[in-house]
Amino acid sequence: MNTPRAPLIVVGAGIAGLSAALAAAPHPVLLLSRTRPVRDVSNDAATALAQGGIAAALAATDSAAAHGEDTLIAGAHHNDREAVRYLCGQAPHAIDWLRQLGVDFDCIGDSDGLDLGREGGHRCARIVHAGGDATGARVLAALGERVRAARHVQWRCGVEVDGLLMRGDVVAGVRVRTAQGQEQCLTGSAVVIATGGIGGLFAATTNPMSAQGRGLALALAAQAVLRDPEFVQFHPTALDVPGRVQLPLLTEALRGAGARLCDRHGRALMQGVHQDSDLAPRDVVARTVSAALRDGRGAFLHCAGLSIDWARAFPTVFAHCRAQGLDPRTQPLPIQPAVHFHMGGIDVDLDGHSSVPGLYAVGEVACNGVHGANRLASNSLLEGVVFGRRVGAHAAVAGAPQIANPARHTLWIAGAGPSLTHNRLNWLQRCLGDVLGPVRVHARIVATRKRIAADPELARSSQGRVALAMLDAAAARRDSLGAHHWSSVTVPESVDAVIRKRDVAEAGASMSGA
Ligand SMILES: Cc1cc2nc3c(=O)[nH]c(=O)nc-3n(C[C@H](O)[C@H](O)[C@H](O)COP(=O)(O)OP(=O)(O)OC[C@H]3O[C@@H](n4cnc5c(N)ncnc54)[C@H](O)[C@@H]3O)c2cc1C
Repeated sequence: MNTPRAPLIVVGAGIAGLSAALAAAPHPVLLLSRTRPVRDVSNDAATALAQGGIAAALAATDSAAAHGEDTLIAGAHHNDREAVRYLCGQAPHAIDWLRQLGVDFDCIGDSDGLDLGREGGHRCARIVHAGGDATGARVLAALGERVRAARHVQWRCGVEVDGLLMRGDVVAGVRVRTAQGQEQCLTGSAVVIATGGIGGLFAATTNPMSAQGRGLALALAAQAVLRDPEFVQFHPTALDVPGRVQLPLLTEALRGAGARLCDRHGRALMQGVHQDSDLAPRDVVARTVSAALRDGRGAFLHCAGLSIDWARAFPTVFAHCRAQGLDPRTQPLPIQPAVHFHMGGIDVDLDGHSSVPGLYAVGEVACNGVHGANRLASNSLLEGVVFGRRVGAHAAVAGAPQIANPARHTLWIAGAGPSLTHNRLNWLQRCLGDVLGPVRVHARIVATRKRIAADPELARSSQGRVALAMLDAAAARRDSLGAHHWSSVTVPESVDAVIRKRDVAEAGASMSGA
C-alpha cells in the first residue's frame, strides 16, 4: 500500500500562492487562506485590487533587456540582476500562460493585438491589462477557477496561519486558527509563505487592511532572515478620503493616458522635478506630492482632458470617484501618497529558499532582490506569476531536508505573536505612517523604535515585531536610496547617539521634576 505523500503547504491565495499551488503539480498541495471566494468582495488579497496591469516586453520595438534596464533604474540598481533578468525574460511567457488559463486581456479594437498601456518608469508602452483597470480581479478569478478544478490541490479557506510547526530547526508544518477559534497543527513536506504585504500597518494605504505582515512575523518567529524591510513604496495617487485608512487607488495608467498632477492653482507639480515629469519613478512623484501637501499647495490629479471611455478603460477608478461624490471627467481629484508595496521581505533565493530549512516564500512577502529599492510599476503581479510558478515547482520537488531520527527532535511552535487590539493598532499605524513615510527623519525613527520596544504588548505582538524589524533596518541604512529617503534637513545620527541624547534629556527632565 502506498503511504500518502505529505502535501506542500502554501499559505496565501493571491497571485503568488495560486501560481505556486498550480505549478507544484502533481505533488499534493494544501492551500490555506483567510478568504475563499475569489469573486467575493471580502477577498483580502491585494491581487484582487490591482488595477494597472502586468508589465511584459511585447511590443515589436521593446525587449526584455529594455524592461530589465527600466526595472534596475527604478530600483536604484539595488536589485539582484539575475532575478531581474529572469523576471523580464519570462514576462511574455507568463502572459501567454495566463491567456491559456482564460485571462481575457484587453486588445486594440476588435483585433487580437494586446492593448499596451504605459506607467511611470517605463520608457515605452508595455502594460497588459484586463477589464480596463480590473486586471487583478480578472487574473485572480481565472487562477482561482483553475486551482479549484486542480485535483492535486486541497484548498482550505477561512483559516489564519499564526504559527510555524518546527521540528528542531526545520519547518515541518503550520498552526492554523479556524473561524471558530480552534487551533490545529498541519504537517507538510515544506511550507511556502505567500501572504502579501504590510500596508495595513500604516495610517494610509491602498492595501487590504488585513495586510499586516503576518507572513513576516511568522518568518521572524522561526528566526528567518529578512532582507531590506525598510524599503516601502508609496503610491503618489491614492484618492484622499478623509478619515479612512484604506484609500482607493487612482492607477498610474491614468497618467500614462495623459492625466496631470497639479497643485490647487492648477500649476503642474512635476515640472522641473524630473525629466519624465508625471511619469517619473514612484518614489520621486510620492515625495513631490508629499511636499506639496506639507507646504499647503495641495495635490490633485487632473483627468478632465482625457479623451477616454471611462466605463471601458477605468471602470474601477470611476466607481471609486463616484462613491466619493467626485466626477473625474470634470473635477480635479484630491490625492495623497499611500503605502502601496513592500520591496523588502523574507530573504529568499530565486527558488524561494529562505534561511530556514523547509521554509519558502514568494510574492510580496518575499524579497529575492528583484525590485531593488523601489519597484517598477506593474512588476509585482508579474513577480507573483513568474516566481510563484518557479518556487511552487521547486518546493514541491525539493521539500524540506530529511532529518535523521525525526523522533529525537522535539516539535515546537514558532508563533507569530498575538494581534494588537484596534486602538493599539491605530496608534502603530499613525506612528509608522509618520516615521517611515516618503521622507524620513532618523531621530524620529529611533525614538519610535525605542517606544515600541519598551512596551511589552506592542513588542511581542505580530505587528509590533514586524514594525521593529522595519524600524531597525531603516535606522541602520545611512544613505538615501530609492524609496528610503532621508530628509535633507537632518543628518542621520547613529542609533546609539540618538538614544544617548534622549536618555540624557529624559534624565535631566526627571531631575528637574518636569
Ligand atoms: C490597489 C492596488 C493596486 C495594485 N495594482 C497593481 C498593478 O496594477 N500591477 C502590479 O503588478 N501590482 C499591483 N499592485 C501590487 C500587487 O497587487 C501585489 O503586490 C500582489 O498582488 C501581491 O500578491 P501576493 O500573492 O504576494 O499577495 P496577496 O495578493 O496580497 O495575497 C495574500 C494572500 O495571503 C492570505 N493570507 C495572508 N496572511 C495569512 C495568514 N496568516 N493565514 C492565512 N492566509 C493568509 C490572504 O488571505 C491572501 O489570500 C497593486 C496593489 C494594490 C493594493
